Amino acid sequence: MKKVHVFNAGPCLLPQVAIDNAIEAMKDFKGTGVSLLSVSHRTKEWEAVMDECRANWKELLNIPEGYEVLFLGGGASMQFLCVAANLLEKKAAYLETGLWAKKACKEAKGLGGDVVVVASSADANYSYVPKGYEIPADADYFHITTNNTIYGTEIRTDMDSPVPLVADMSSDILSRPVDVSKYAVIYAGAQKNAGPAGVAVVIVRKDVLGKVSHYIPTMLDYRTHIDKGSMFNTPPVFAVFVMNETLKWLKGIGGVEAIHERNKKKAATLYAEIDRNSLFRGTAAVEDRSIMNVTFVMAEGKEELQDEFLAFAKERGMVGIKGHRSVGGFRASIYNACSQEDVEALVKVMQEFENLKK
Ligand SMILES: *Cc1c(COP(=O)(O)O)cnc(C)c1O
Repeated sequence: MKKVHVFNAGPCLLPQVAIDNAIEAMKDFKGTGVSLLSVSHRTKEWEAVMDECRANWKELLNIPEGYEVLFLGGGASMQFLCVAANLLEKKAAYLETGLWAKKACKEAKGLGGDVVVVASSADANYSYVPKGYEIPADADYFHITTNNTIYGTEIRTDMDSPVPLVADMSSDILSRPVDVSKYAVIYAGAQKNAGPAGVAVVIVRKDVLGKVSHYIPTMLDYRTHIDKGSMFNTPPVFAVFVMNETLKWLKGIGGVEAIHERNKKKAATLYAEIDRNSLFRGTAAVEDRSIMNVTFVMAEGKEELQDEFLAFAKERGMVGIKGHRSVGGFRASIYNACSQEDVEALVKVMQEFENLKK
């Protein structure tokens, strides 16, 4: 296979062992003689995978009593709606830190009720995380997006909130230890850091449910999935399997504390080069820089080199570094499975390009 360095924003790079074990299971799931793709989800072998995956999430994030872990289809985007359907009675508050946050807010607005945007960084194309805002004490919940995948900003502390805190952690879940007890709901599309596309994980504190007076459609109601152990209908079998393999890998290398150290080091390496290299500059406010998605553009006056650098990097095996169209430039997503070696390969390419242009 061609040697490349994958910086895709999602679906993300996955640990090779998870892929190898998935290939094996696709041929023969746990010695049953049945492919993972054909296995009945009503077998004890499959239920064991669901149980193990739930247990792995609980262990990795140190999830306290009173929370449930759900595996649901529909991606993080479906959770934009589910959160509002399950929690919004009168008023919801949102922090607008980017396109995904805005989309989450739209679903709450669509369901009616008073939806307040407490602060927005739209004025600077979401290049920073607003601070010093007030969370209304009468809101049913406050929704944040901890990592803004497109813009490369991140909220890396578990904040205090006077009302139930809901977090879209799609692109930074499992990248660092999290104090789950600060949150009422955490959700994430698996494909950014936790597994392949096709499943979203939802971590929900049970005591926030059952407080709305309207009908919640069955498939959107968290209680449906809690009651049925995420198997009310056919679960995304393949995606859950590979997610569980990814969690096993993460546990094996020391869990979220260990990966957090690696992630900080990777990010520091790449940002140091962006700040040093005369051809590039970062786009996110320095204090809000994400350790998962690193956004940068050509330095002022060097803009015309953008396409040339993309081609130069591509020739050297760099995959997926084109920035999102709303920011432009470049984005290197350095999720958990991305190694220090991958990051150093990209840094080397940036240095070579600088030398070429001297
Ligand atoms: C990618 C992304 C989403 C959307 O995820 P889907 O699973 O594709 O719906 C939502 N929020 C954030 C922060 C994302 O990065």
